[in-house]
Amino acid sequence: MKLGTVLLPVDRDQTTARVTTPGLNWTRLGDTMLYWTADDELWDRAHERVRLTGLSLEERPAPGQAGDLRLVTQVGRVFQHEHPDVPVLVDKGRYLVVSIDERRLGQIPPRADVCYRVEPLPAGAVAFRTVTPDVRAPIPEIQALVDQVSKDDYREFLTELVDFGTRHSLSAGFPAVASRARDRLQGFGYLAELVPITVGSGQSFNVVANRLAAHRLPREIVVVTAHLDSINLAGGPAAPAPGADDNASGAAGLLEIARVLAGLDIRQDLRLILFGGEEQGLFGSRQYVSALRPEERVDIRMVINMDMIATLNTATPTVLLEGAEVSQVLIDDLAAAAGTYTTLSVQTSLNPFNSDHVPFIDALIPAVLTIEGADGANENVHTADDTLDRIDYGLALDIIRMNVATAAEAAL
Ligand SMILES: [Zn+2]
Repeated sequence: MKLGTVLLPVDRDQTTARVTTPGLNWTRLGDTMLYWTADDELWDRAHERVRLTGLSLEERPAPGQAGDLRLVTQVGRVFQHEHPDVPVLVDKGRYLVVSIDERRLGQIPPRADVCYRVEPLPAGAVAFRTVTPDVRAPIPEIQALVDQVSKDDYREFLTELVDFGTRHSLSAGFPAVASRARDRLQGFGYLAELVPITVGSGQSFNVVANRLAAHRLPREIVVVTAHLDSINLAGGPAAPAPGADDNASGAAGLLEIARVLAGLDIRQDLRLILFGGEEQGLFGSRQYVSALRPEERVDIRMVINMDMIATLNTATPTVLLEGAEVSQVLIDDLAAAAGTYTTLSVQTSLNPFNSDHVPFIDALIPAVLTIEGADGANENVHTADDTLDRIDYGLALDIIRMNVATAAEAAL
């Protein structure tokens, strides 16, 4: 098998078409096109075609067979930690291309608390892309809200959550964490409550907060979510799990969005949800979505989920907007908000994976995960080392600004 990559110039989406060769397998991961084939003649033609575009096809050692190529989607770098022997051919942080034969694949046990997914490498597919967001004219009312996003407030919420030591869903202290978040939301004027959920054979909580619009017809609900819980995979419920990035960063982001939107004269209902049981397999969000009444599902206009928004893995602050076809309009709106109100670079993906946006997407509700761009390494997720000193406030605050703008525009 021949295998190689072409580095694409950023911001030139049309290049994808110009550097593909009929019959040749390819997968795009951001700025990297990976090609593979067993046909030498096709390979020579591909070289020539890529050269004509002024780019070059770098040949790489190809361990194993074409059928051994797999796409891994992961949280942090859990896959590499657990399977250091598996050759990684392309490393884009959240996305890897690896070579694993059937025998080795059989040794990777399926787990409930999935931190990675392994699937055959799709040919002719885009795992994620880097986009140039539309820049729209800022709306003064939205700009004013975006300008209220405060580092001091965000840092206070974040620090308070991390200081609990662990937010493991089944830890003795989780009810206190959830109650504290509920009290914060009530303090901003939301109707907030703890909703019991089951996590395996144990019990935990979601925190659900609402602000109802004064004029409620036709009614739509703008939903913002984040998971409140944390985990230390090497320990039990009592082990230190500061979860600063995963996901105090998103939960504190939700509190900051709640604070900024508290005084807004909304025409649509706002609902803010902090889920429990995410780390054990999306228990809180799955139970929440399955309990929605059919008419309520239809009313949900959008779900903006934040999970890990504060580690800078890339040279420039980058957000990944991850959804599915059903969320494409919301992805475009978020990208436009990023282009208009922030300096974020934007990546997009239509492969939803392992966070609380997934149960909504499964129910055909437009939901998008907003997460730090993961081209580099986040080694600390799900360990005792996911600590406050690694937080990048600039990245987190820009993701919050993007989400404030998008939620506010929808709710106004
Ligand atoms: Zn998470």
